[in-house]
Amino acid sequence: MAYLDASPTPFHAAANAAARLVDEGDFEVVGEHDPFPTRPGRYAVLRDGALVAWVQREGDARHTPWRIVGAHTDSPTFQVKPRPDLVKAGWQLLGVEPYGPPIYASWLDRDLGLAGRVLVRDPAGRGGVRAELFDDTRALLRLAQLAIHLDRAVNERGAQLNPQTHLVPLWGVDDAPANFTAYLGEQVGAAEGDLLGWDVSLRDTQPAALLGRDRDLLASARLDNLVSCHAAVEALLATAGEHAAYRPAIVLFDHEEVGSRSERGAASPLLGSILERAAGGDREDYWRALAGSMVASADMAHATHPNYAELAEPAHQVRMHGGPVLKVHRELRYASDGRGIAALRLAAEQADVPVQVFVTRSDLPCGSTIGPITAGQLGVTTVDVGAPMLSMHSARELAGVPDQQAYAALLTAFLAPA
Ligand code: ZN
Repeated sequence: MAYLDASPTPFHAAANAAARLVDEGDFEVVGEHDPFPTRPGRYAVLRDGALVAWVQREGDARHTPWRIVGAHTDSPTFQVKPRPDLVKAGWQLLGVEPYGPPIYASWLDRDLGLAGRVLVRDPAGRGGVRAELFDDTRALLRLAQLAIHLDRAVNERGAQLNPQTHLVPLWGVDDAPANFTAYLGEQVGAAEGDLLGWDVSLRDTQPAALLGRDRDLLASARLDNLVSCHAAVEALLATAGEHAAYRPAIVLFDHEEVGSRSERGAASPLLGSILERAAGGDREDYWRALAGSMVASADMAHATHPNYAELAEPAHQVRMHGGPVLKVHRELRYASDGRGIAALRLAAEQADVPVQVFVTRSDLPCGSTIGPITAGQLGVTTVDVGAPMLSMHSARELAGVPDQQAYAALLTAFLAPA
């Protein structure tokens, strides 16, 4: 829950994961432009909102295969537009646009803050700038609903929301614009003229909470996919010291929710290039290592919703608290095949956790994730796995506490098979 509350954006999620690996696992953050270390050790590369971390132990060869857990740091949200200052009907508004896509209605009438990264002029920094993260958890903004008196049919057909015209949060009452860049300057302690670029999004200000009669459900923003990022970090910390036939590694990609095509998304060379350098830069060693490697693509799975149970495939219902979920799709929206499924089942036996299987109905479409993209980039057997949840892409999602614990145990066993 602390990780969820402290990670409102991919930049925070990747930086917090790196900080935990450094603090609790003695990992060393390596600069990509520096020579990679050749001695055994625990290393991490942070590329903006993405992270790769790996372990090279005494006795590991450069061609020792990897076991890799992949996840993603981004979630559906609303991003602030480049020229966001708007005024209408005496209100100061902030221009935003959907990223993801979010479930629009779930963001209405919530107390919203802002968080992100600002690039501040700094001649000593990379490219003449330094990156400052900020997280403003005050209730600043509101996507205000229309009164029911002005839309009597809203409960019958739902709100008809146009993202350009209806989803514009208000944050003040004045006829003059609010001046967003002045606000940003205050957040990072820099002069307005030194703010050269920024990536800022809305964040829900309500902290994560335990929910339910037995307090064994977890309600929060960004469970998809910080639950998996957290489980991946737990698994790497648990296996970093263990000697095994595989080298453990994790990758947390950005931009999964918008197609993964960026320099730090799953469609980029990020993971392959880091692994190749971690293998010592010898292509033969790298390809030998890859040939025996496997990836678990960790992303959330749909639990069967009690009020819409007919939407679940009847023979593949997924229960909350039923344990981690293997995800299979006929057209490879998930990468899992028999070989990956077998490896995951062995890991589940080793961790002594149950495994459920998600298959979408044959007459319904299916989401996707980093699994097939990573498999296509690396040429490595990949299995898609997740933890059950409801309300995926809502501003406030719901997962299960015991499922999170079993998920981390499963990924730990996957990284270090007996
Ligand atoms: Zn996801």
